[in-house]
Amino acid sequence: PSVIAMPNGHRVGALLEGRVAVISGAGRERGIGKATAKLFAAHGASVALLDLDEAEVQTAAADLAAAGANAIGITCDVSQPDSCRAAIERVLAWPKSRGRIDILVNNAGLTQRKRVADISLEDYSRITEVVLAGTLRLSQAVMPAMRSQRAGSIICISSMSAQQGGGVFGGAHYCAAKAGVLGLVRAMARELGPDGIRANAITPGLILTDFSRSGATDESKHAIAKDWPLGRAGDPAEIAGACLFLASDLSSYVTGVTLDVNGGAYMR
Ligand code: ADP
Repeated sequence: PSVIAMPNGHRVGALLEGRVAVISGAGRERGIGKATAKLFAAHGASVALLDLDEAEVQTAAADLAAAGANAIGITCDVSQPDSCRAAIERVLAWPKSRGRIDILVNNAGLTQRKRVADISLEDYSRITEVVLAGTLRLSQAVMPAMRSQRAGSIICISSMSAQQGGGVFGGAHYCAAKAGVLGLVRAMARELGPDGIRANAITPGLILTDFSRSGATDESKHAIAKDWPLGRAGDPAEIAGACLFLASDLSSYVTGVTLDVNGGAYMR
């Protein structure tokens, strides 16, 4: 079946029926990438999950396949050009893709909390290679397919830290890379629009993921978000919902935007 059951018992409609989506950084059990892959699959998409962590990405893809989705797990290091190219070639050769890629979600990321004065050039390069160059490379790799289809949606997961500066999110190098993603998205929207390809960014606020293995607990995130209008940190599924909007035809006239999904953090 192309539509899988959601945990709340609903069988949801198929906004992405017949579409093929590639999601990077989709291995982690409690992450934005996996939540997005799951919601996309629930809406009828065939999903290719990419992650650096081979065991996690295979488990994540197997979970979705067991729930009835067309899903494939592919090990990919987005900081390596050859790895990005090879991953996209595998997606295109995957029979369920029928040689198409309709949607790319650039979610792979890593952070580091460091004071500005302590950031080494090596720290800077490592974060920038994954967050910013990785986003560029995967986007480049899907472009030929999207161009020949004359349609596509590229979604880049930036961060509230791009707008606000670090805090619990990470250091200045992480903020800079995530801010760079916003510029990249606007440039891609401008350049690729005539080919029917849209590019948009999402800036999540505090999300309850395992991403911040660097220290921030769920409790600390809720505590920070306490004075924001919605009064709590967000769930990965709430970022997935924004991705679904930007991936589907519901957003067919939306390109080059930055969608803040942060519980109203700027209204505090
Ligand atoms: P968040 O949900 O906060 O965005 P995720 O839980 O999605 O964070 O984690 C980001 C994902 O990116 C992780 O699954 C991690 O393994 C993955 N990742 C980190 N570095 C790379 C890389 N170089 N290439 C591909 N994936 C990566």
